[in-house]
Amino acid sequence: MSRKKIIAGNWKMNMTPTEAVALAETLKPLVGNEDADVVFCVPAIDIIPVVEAVKGTNIKVGAENLYFEEKGAYTGEISASMLTDAGVSYVIIGHSERREYFAETDETVNKKVLKAFEHGLTPIICCGESLKQREQGITIDWIRQQIKIAFLNVTEEQAKTAVIAYEPIWAIGTGKVATTEQAEEVCAAIRQCIGEIYDGATAEAIRIQYGGSVSASSAPELFAQPDIDGGLVGGASLKADFGRIVNYNRNA
Ligand code: PEP
Repeated sequence: MSRKKIIAGNWKMNMTPTEAVALAETLKPLVGNEDADVVFCVPAIDIIPVVEAVKGTNIKVGAENLYFEEKGAYTGEISASMLTDAGVSYVIIGHSERREYFAETDETVNKKVLKAFEHGLTPIICCGESLKQREQGITIDWIRQQIKIAFLNVTEEQAKTAVIAYEPIWAIGTGKVATTEQAEEVCAAIRQCIGEIYDGATAEAIRIQYGGSVSASSAPELFAQPDIDGGLVGGASLKADFGRIVNYNRNA
């Protein structure tokens, strides 16, 4: 079975609504590739104008977070139904920056994943080890734990449609890309873990991205690995380079 690649940009806390529309317009003609799903994960305030700007294209819009409650007195938070009503299809959950700066845990990640599925949003579930954990040799154990908790009470049918982003924390925004072997090793281990939780068919269906300083030059080799189904791209998603990453299989 062949999985379609998925390449998502994570704009983080960048781009005012005006700038976001300008960036979407710049990238629109550059990110056509029928071999890949393309997602722009944008700040909440940019969602509505970017959805409007990419109408009629292959680009889907994602959010960078949601809250796990349905609605109510949660000042500052954004619900799943607000996202779907605004035209969002994907949502990043548990990015390491949210874990580090906003106290997200494996448990809140799991609640958010369940809420996303309940509303028909596809979660992009982030996991990844710190440099210290890698040096201690506990990377795979750590990631397996993150995955097992993230998928608690997620059905097999839901899991098949999920996206997991393996993002070694030491590679995010540092310009230090994991080697192809390191990235493939962990993505393969994640797929095996999904196979143990569910079954072989679910492991085959789920899409696993690599994230961490992906660039136009590193993307072709990374995305050619058997267990790497695309990328979650931070810095390079804000530039025309993103078009070259999406067209990783057509670069000269
Ligand atoms: C990210 O934030 O998900 C990411 C991978 O960032 P960068 O590509 O800048 O390392």
